[in-house]
Amino acid sequence: HISYVNGHYVRHARARVHIEDRGFQFADGVYEVFAIRRGRVLDAERHFERLTRSLAALRIPAPMSRAALQMVFAELIRRNNSPANGVLYLQITRGVAPRTHAFPPRAVPTLVATVNSLRPVDPEVLRAGVSVISLPDIRWRRPDIKSVSLLPNVLAKQQALEAGAYEAWLLDDSGMVTEGTASNAWIVTADGDLVTRPADMSILNGITRLVVLELAHRSNIRTVERPFSLAEAKAAKEAFLTGTTSLVKPVIRIDGATIGDGRMGTITAALQAAYLERLEDEE
Ligand code: PMP
Repeated sequence: HISYVNGHYVRHARARVHIEDRGFQFADGVYEVFAIRRGRVLDAERHFERLTRSLAALRIPAPMSRAALQMVFAELIRRNNSPANGVLYLQITRGVAPRTHAFPPRAVPTLVATVNSLRPVDPEVLRAGVSVISLPDIRWRRPDIKSVSLLPNVLAKQQALEAGAYEAWLLDDSGMVTEGTASNAWIVTADGDLVTRPADMSILNGITRLVVLELAHRSNIRTVERPFSLAEAKAAKEAFLTGTTSLVKPVIRIDGATIGDGRMGTITAALQAAYLERLEDEE
């Protein structure tokens, strides 16, 4: 198992950054999670665009070009035996400097990457769906930046798991759903409209979200990007969530209330099938 740390391919067990890395002390950094299929990262361009936005928002200089990053990825995947199914995690922090809040004048960004193979998502879970609970969204006001500051997400996800649910849907101060701790949230209304929150500053604009919006458009599914409330979600005909590692998962219970007839809805099924097909076809 090999990881990448600042220009070096190292044994994973020996991969290290300094204790005064600002990622460690301030969560002063960003990350991306890429899906690996048949030894290649998927949707690299979209992830790179989002990475560029996140870095710019935090004013961290890009440590290397996209082309160079692609070469590192290819080499790292190769050195990890090119998993058929897996994830590549990339993290870039502002770098190592004596601890003080202000940006250090000459810090060199830290860049680390890991590759892990994964078992494919259980088809039974994709078919049967998952439960979610609702929790207040206590994150900072810029979840659109993919920062490594994920403590509220960690706490909410743990609370969901301890409640026997797969994910937590987070509620803003008006009781509207923002997103999940690591996924975007969707419903289908009684009229058959596909609804998801617009990608403003209140959510992370998921790559899976963008792909599913495109697939919906191509399938002539009427789509509305607007906030929806927890009450509307509980009364919805269908609900589902999306993410790079979650794929498209039906949500069949919210806070214990059954959604629709408790089984994957037709629009969810169509989008899930289209998404999985695209995964298999991706070159
Ligand atoms: N929202 C949050 C808060 C996330 O952490 C993630 C996954 N990292 C997503 C949404 C889904 O994004 P993507 O489809 O790019 O995995």
